[in-house]
Amino acid sequence: MSIKGVDITVLGGGIAGLAAATALAQRGAIVTVLEQATELGEVGAGLQIGPNGVAVLEALGLRDAAEAVANVPEAIELRDMASGREVARLQMGQAAMQRWGRPYWQFHRADLLSVLADGARAAGVDIRLGQKVETVEDIDASVVIAADGVRSAVRAEVFNGQPASFTGQVAWRGIIPAEKLTKGAVKNTATVYMAPGRHLVTYPMRGGSVINFVAVEERNAWADEGWNIPDTSENLRRAFAGAGRDVQTILNAVDETFLWGLFNHPYLPEWTKGNIAMVGDACHPMLPFLAQGAVMALEDAWVLARELDRSGVPDGLLAYERICKPRATRVQKAAASNATAYHLSSGPVRLVAHTGLRAISRLVPSALLGRFDWLYGGDVTTLDV
Ligand SMILES: Cc1cc2nc3c(=O)[nH]c(=O)nc-3n(C[C@H](O)[C@H](O)[C@H](O)COP(=O)(O)OP(=O)(O)OC[C@H]3O[C@@H](n4cnc5c(N)ncnc54)[C@H](O)[C@@H]3O)c2cc1C
Repeated sequence: MSIKGVDITVLGGGIAGLAAATALAQRGAIVTVLEQATELGEVGAGLQIGPNGVAVLEALGLRDAAEAVANVPEAIELRDMASGREVARLQMGQAAMQRWGRPYWQFHRADLLSVLADGARAAGVDIRLGQKVETVEDIDASVVIAADGVRSAVRAEVFNGQPASFTGQVAWRGIIPAEKLTKGAVKNTATVYMAPGRHLVTYPMRGGSVINFVAVEERNAWADEGWNIPDTSENLRRAFAGAGRDVQTILNAVDETFLWGLFNHPYLPEWTKGNIAMVGDACHPMLPFLAQGAVMALEDAWVLARELDRSGVPDGLLAYERICKPRATRVQKAAASNATAYHLSSGPVRLVAHTGLRAISRLVPSALLGRFDWLYGGDVTTLDV
């Protein structure tokens, strides 16, 4: 069995779609990507790619190109938002290399998309922009890959996707030019500032010239599940009033920000039907608290291409689902529970949790890193997941 010469249409030119298209074309398929946007690439947001995602970039032959635009953080830090005090520190950099064999990277999203688009074109993929697909029935191809994201129309049309429910959390995101902050305020770490009902994540990108931030607040008011809903920086600062000096310094430098609601999506019973398969957020949308949505999309892409090449339709697509779904579901659940851990309300539970973490972080830092072995140490390209 081989996919050499098989015509495959990929719906959506995001991380999942471009990675899947590249992996399929590299195995000889004739691949077309249909993307509704008239331009590829998303402005103004960051993406962290853990070692398990780097494994896929490497297998696609894109490691060098990605490395050239990646930031390598020294550590992931958890801090108390009010005091700024460190609660835990996961050493990254060399420690990640030693433990998982690959680095932990941070990107400007547009840079990673551009690496993937170049890789796709080099593999012969035909990327067509400005192509909004209304129904899969309009697609005439032997295999259809739906990579149409968190609000997937294919999920609704073919897989009976049920409506999402508001989590009670909204997030602001944005980018701050580093020159707006004092030198000491720009650290080469991913920092999570935690407070009851809120947290803020920051990390540098593009050689430290810009800082990405995501600020999450629990609230009852509903906000749309979109990407580009502008909000005022005053609203953001108001939501984080009372935060400590570090957080105030960062938020005072924000000029432009976007707000969106975070939603829970019911787990899907199936990801494939006949000659149609979903990848990425279309089949496993997740909360962003483990920074693994795009990484899981990369893993999907690789496994899908390998299994389709091995076993064709439908067996290859079913094998892809069998391999990727349990892992993606575990990641979805772990991401959701991180929100609870970050947002613990004041009082004994928070004190005990933070004191415990602080102790483990100081006394046995490897134990903290070890909690992520199942995730970052997984390598779908060797089936070692
Ligand atoms: C705040 C935030 C921070 C995040 N941080 C991280 C992180 O650090 N690390 C990480 O791994 N993940 C992160 N994620 C998750 C990650 O962004 C997503 O999991 C990832 O982008 C999913 O990729 P995708 O290709 O499946 O979907 P998308 O990136 O949404 O791409 C879908 C594409 O399909 C196109 N499309 C949709 N409908 C149609 C149609 N009908 N016709 C044609 N084209 C269509 C869209 O225009 C889009 O280009 C984060 C998410 C958020 C919200």
